[in-house]
Amino acid sequence: MPILRVALNIPLDTLFDYIAPNACEADIGLRVCVPFGKKKLTGVILEVCSDTEVPPEKLKSVICIFRETPPLSAELLALFSFCSDYYHHPLGMVVMNSLPGKLRNNKPVSLKVHVNRDQFVLSAAGRQVDTSTIPARNTLMHRLLATLKSTPSLNARDVRKISPRADHILQDWVRKGWVDIIPETDPAVATPALPELTSEQSTAVGVIAAKLDRFDTWVLHGVTGSGKTEVYLRLIAQTLSKGKQALVLIPEISLTPQLESVFRERFIMTRIVSLHSGLNDSERLSGWLQAQQGEAGVVLGTRLAVFTPLPKLGLIIVDEEQDSSFKQQDGLRYSARDLAIFRASQAHIPVVLGSATPSLESYYNVLNDRYRYLRLKNRAIKNAVLPQVKCIDLRSEKPLNGLSIPLIKAIDACLAHRQQCLIFINRRGYAPVLLCKSCGWTAVCQRCTSRLVVHLQDKKLSCHHCGYLESFPHACPQCGDQDMMPFGRGTQRVEEALAIRFPSARILRIDRDSTRRKNAWQAILRSVHQHEVDILVGTQLLAKGHDFPNLSLVGILGSDISLYSTDFRAGERLFTQLMQVAGRAGRAKISGSVLIQTEFPNHPLYQALQRHDYDVLAKTILAERKMAGFPPYVYQALLRAEAHSLKKVLDFLDTAHKLTQSLTGIEVFDPVPAHMARLKGMERAHLLVQSGSRKKLQIFLAQWYKQLSALTAHKVRWSLDVDPIEF
Ligand code: ADP
Ligand code: ZN
Ligand code: ZN
Repeated sequence: MPILRVALNIPLDTLFDYIAPNACEADIGLRVCVPFGKKKLTGVILEVCSDTEVPPEKLKSVICIFRETPPLSAELLALFSFCSDYYHHPLGMVVMNSLPGKLRNNKPVSLKVHVNRDQFVLSAAGRQVDTSTIPARNTLMHRLLATLKSTPSLNARDVRKISPRADHILQDWVRKGWVDIIPETDPAVATPALPELTSEQSTAVGVIAAKLDRFDTWVLHGVTGSGKTEVYLRLIAQTLSKGKQALVLIPEISLTPQLESVFRERFIMTRIVSLHSGLNDSERLSGWLQAQQGEAGVVLGTRLAVFTPLPKLGLIIVDEEQDSSFKQQDGLRYSARDLAIFRASQAHIPVVLGSATPSLESYYNVLNDRYRYLRLKNRAIKNAVLPQVKCIDLRSEKPLNGLSIPLIKAIDACLAHRQQCLIFINRRGYAPVLLCKSCGWTAVCQRCTSRLVVHLQDKKLSCHHCGYLESFPHACPQCGDQDMMPFGRGTQRVEEALAIRFPSARILRIDRDSTRRKNAWQAILRSVHQHEVDILVGTQLLAKGHDFPNLSLVGILGSDISLYSTDFRAGERLFTQLMQVAGRAGRAKISGSVLIQTEFPNHPLYQALQRHDYDVLAKTILAERKMAGFPPYVYQALLRAEAHSLKKVLDFLDTAHKLTQSLTGIEVFDPVPAHMARLKGMERAHLLVQSGSRKKLQIFLAQWYKQLSALTAHKVRWSLDVDPIEF
């Protein structure tokens, strides 16, 4: 009797065995419904074997195997397996979390004809089908086949006219390869005229295109506006022309609409699927299936899209590869960028990491010759030069309500020329914290250690980490003083100051508050593009790759805090962010300028920024990291733990620490409270381990993970975070 080994979404590091009388090897990768305790669960078949260690009386039978979707490919299962091993996360959870919601359900999915304008044609295999193998009583099948044979193509409406049930048969035939789907083509739409590549772009395209049939990790380092997208488009075109699929990973959902339309305009004949968190379950399933069936030529998506089944994968692009959103920060803490590289290596295809400011990890690999490097130093549009970056020294230019005189003058001039400006602040809310000027008390969250953020409009204090909300206190809880001051300057306050100073300007604030609603981004982008806005006030969200042709001035406020942070990555992050924000200015015909308000105008970071000199700063930071023994010179993992009592957490971490005794090549630090020591009522702490050898660290982690899993006495939630980027 065949035994199925099934991946289930259960937090145990094992597969689950079931009997399935009529299963075979070909069923590996199919979904299956199984009994689990009193429940029914959906899982994926990972192995079919003939024996099991489960005693016969405990062995149960599967309830059903879902055969309406094709099995997950061996290539994808290998990716899951690597991911589970590398991040030390149960395989079943890795597999199940990657699937669209509808495939995690205990129900078969219906495969509707998803795009009505498709044309269906009989494939060569379909023409050779022996009609005598189709039962005579199945008149519908005979009718459909005959119709397909007699016409060049059918569209969905024609199909439905034959019978409402014809859809279903057709989908089955598509899966069998009897019928091909051709995306609808509109003869009225001409092939778009391609821009002539700059010499840098043309070199980059040429060099990568010559090696499309092998694995390489390419770092495409191009200043903002250098036309990296055009390089991607050309490489994708080549990939598509070979009948292959391209996977494009992007950091933010807010980037999708713009990029998606660029892709759709360029590849009219190609099915483009976009996968991001803004989709509903049906949309996600539909996109996923189109990818799996090879119908989608391009899949554009955020980090989870790295797990999309792509049978004909020929190219992976990771845009803004340095972006921290590629790393998942809970559950399976994977890096989509790193998995993309693994996936490309397995598939023997190139992966392109694009960035204006490559992550130091990637840059380090370039310096080590592990990655290949291509550079775009100039902006693509003729005469578009990089913006001039200058510091405004706040020690001599005291700001009023956050705005210094030189910045105000620059805004004046910008508005006088009917151009747009952007004031960038890396914070939000009216004023971040409530401070008592007499005793120094600040409002902190009851549940976390984070400071509460002041929202002046509704007189509320809110925690931006756990969502806790409370009203303003009438007086200082510590000293009774009633003179409570909002301290620090957030976007709303600057907006107010700007509104007073520039009464006729149209001001738009962009931060998480104003972009939470669905489609908020599209509305904002549209109003900026149509010049319905003069001054944009925004947080980091605006730093990402939008193209605003009429933007000529960027003012940067309050960035100094990051210069002397305890987080060793803060400098890198600030530099990246400021380079990107600076890249917003002067993208098109007008030249831009960037003004940074700072008390430290001579800091190397600002100096490098003024010269647009990524390399010098990157090398400086790398040298510091080497001295201090930080990544990328060491490999790290964090054992994160949380519980209701801090003592339990620390006891657990102490025990974990003791398990690590007498190891060579592995450095283990003492447990420390997490940066957010309390979160949602839980006490949190962690323990850092690191090693100069990734292999040694992996061997150690595998062993440690087993030992930790065997510790049952502790009521502590824990997880391993491999290659952590937040502490
Ligand atoms: P990046 O992603 O490198 O910041 P983009 O891909 O957004 O840059 O390109 C910046 C601008 O340059 C876009 O408006 C794009 O249409 C334009 N562009 C790109 N390549 C060319 C080219 N070869 N000729 C003219 N314009 C180009
Ligand atoms: Zn006080
Ligand atoms: Zn909180």
